[in-house]
Amino acid sequence: MTIAEQISALRKELHEHNKRYYMQDAPIISDYLFDEKLATLKRLEDAHPDFFDPNSPTQRVGGAVTKNFNTVVHEHRMYSLDNSYNKQDLLDWEARMCKILGVTTLEYTCELKYDGASISLTYTNGKLVQAVTRGDGVQGDEVTNNVKTINSVPLEINASDVPGTFTIRGEIILPLAGFNAMNAARIKAGEDPYMNPRNTASGSLKLQDSRLVASRPLDCFLYQIVTSQSVFKTQLASLEAADRWGFYVPKHYIHAANIDAVITYLNEWEDKRSSLPYEIDGVVIKVNQLAYQEELGYTAKSPRWAMAYKFKAEAVETQLEDVVYQVGRTGAITPVAKLTPVLLGGTIVKRASLHNADFIAGLDLHYLDTVSVEKGGEIIPKITAINTNKRQPNSTAVRYATHCPECNTPLERHVDEAQHYCPNTTGCMPQRVGRVAHFISRKAMDIDGLGAETIQLMMQKNLLHSYASLYDITEADLIPLERLAEKSAKNIVAAIAASVEIPFYRVLFALGIRFVGQTVAKKLAQHFGSIDALAMASAQELEAVDEIGARIAESVRDFFASAENLQIIAQLRQAGVQLEQQAKEGPVSNSLADLRFVVSGVFTAFSRDDLKVLIEQHGGKIVSSISSKTSYVVAGDNMGPSKKSKATTLGIPIISEQELVTMMKA
Ligand code: AMP
Ligand code: ZN
Repeated sequence: MTIAEQISALRKELHEHNKRYYMQDAPIISDYLFDEKLATLKRLEDAHPDFFDPNSPTQRVGGAVTKNFNTVVHEHRMYSLDNSYNKQDLLDWEARMCKILGVTTLEYTCELKYDGASISLTYTNGKLVQAVTRGDGVQGDEVTNNVKTINSVPLEINASDVPGTFTIRGEIILPLAGFNAMNAARIKAGEDPYMNPRNTASGSLKLQDSRLVASRPLDCFLYQIVTSQSVFKTQLASLEAADRWGFYVPKHYIHAANIDAVITYLNEWEDKRSSLPYEIDGVVIKVNQLAYQEELGYTAKSPRWAMAYKFKAEAVETQLEDVVYQVGRTGAITPVAKLTPVLLGGTIVKRASLHNADFIAGLDLHYLDTVSVEKGGEIIPKITAINTNKRQPNSTAVRYATHCPECNTPLERHVDEAQHYCPNTTGCMPQRVGRVAHFISRKAMDIDGLGAETIQLMMQKNLLHSYASLYDITEADLIPLERLAEKSAKNIVAAIAASVEIPFYRVLFALGIRFVGQTVAKKLAQHFGSIDALAMASAQELEAVDEIGARIAESVRDFFASAENLQIIAQLRQAGVQLEQQAKEGPVSNSLADLRFVVSGVFTAFSRDDLKVLIEQHGGKIVSSISSKTSYVVAGDNMGPSKKSKATTLGIPIISEQELVTMMKA
């Protein structure tokens, strides 16, 4: 066998094993053997780069980095679906269609409505060539490299009846088990958990590093083949073909001979949905005959031949056992209901958010009340109602805590704020730990390897006092701590040392000043240029900065009024942390002063982000949408058509990146 033949045979074999493992759940070789074959293929490919194939099974692990996603116009628009919430809506819908078509009854398919991010995959000659998000339905982002890492997306398909080119649509979802595991890991690392599987799935598609995408347990469920030629007569036949071609089509779809069969299916899944290993938010009902679909056509928003039936948010009743209070890094108190554990949407619920004192008072919550809990968009469910009929005769109303549960300091509440605070910033453990955890988080100083538990342990052992004393830590300090191996101690110390290179605006964010998030930190860093200038700024000077209001100004002033904070800053300075803008971050010229720019499209000489930085460095301002106040639109390839027409209507000049560069030099 020649090398080329060997490579091709291995690829074919591994594609087949992938399909058996991920889609059919019926592997015929061990994981070990699979990995070995994959390693062999990788070795051959590395030694013979001429035979590179973007669809090789070795490409699943990711590695490609996309800075700016290309905008791609969908050949066939991706519509939304009309929603219905009750059976009468469905009967009305059927009546409308029957009237248009001049028939008395219709047959349908029913599929589950997977709750994830829509995707459109294009295959040419059996190979995946492009994956595009729905975007606004007319155009989306090309995320091919990321989608290739999803194991249930076939990179190549082999079947006799596959059209030369076709598009198939589906939903990228994150199964519950994978989502929960990701969150458990985040919580352990001291990071905020993700909100819900849907947002996490769609966020994953837009990650720049495809290796990160590969590490997420995403799946892709397919539901519609789009071709120019009429290959199939029914939706049912096209689902069956997709399945045969090797796509992942969940087996729960049915062919419904009439609307009654549809309604039976809805009733069945309303109950069964919580037994699924992934989230659905309803059922999609489609007219089965594609000829009828064509005749019915589309409204401005959605096909007339399909209907989403949305399930009501799931709710269950359970009992309130207690109210506990969590203390955040800024001292903000969050009340949390402890509930008698109950099954809701596939997970056991034990806690619900109570937001703040007003929320509790508004509910008139009593201890031992029977409450209804619902899952909204957040991980932690909400209490939506109280069943007062079941109220215990002697129960008392929940009285909000008066003292911090962690340090017993009396709580405070500012007049115009909903939240209570523990003012003991220096002595209250969760605040101290939280500040360090925030300081080292990825978007701040990016120091990996220290979880909240380790930080707390170090504080208890007096090894750590504040984030500034991180810079005094040695390997010898870390090694005796439980669970910390020598290697990770070394890595942590190295990461701390490396963090002195982190630019000033991120340091400013890392300090954890209340209300100073990433964007505000950037603005302040750019405006004041150094921590010393910022520390000396008056309230008026602070408020003069774009988008900085009285609340932020006051919080910044408070931070620098504290002797302890000044001490911490002195320590950071000594450690060599960046406390001023590097020359290259600061304004370079004022050639674009007072001009407002909208940057849109894909550029050749610079990335979009680089262009924005350049504009700001020359004194210009970036705005996100075009208005009469916009000075220029800097346009690259694929600028959105609506932006273009808006600029033209308002008479705003559209310039190229080269023209911009010329202006900057002026
Ligand atoms: P909506 O976003 O609520 O208008 O619903 C439309 C979206 O539902 C589509 O863009 C798809 O991403 C998604 N969807 C999930 N499951 C299906 C399915 N079985 N058939 C069609 N669309 C589906
Ligand atoms: Zn406290």
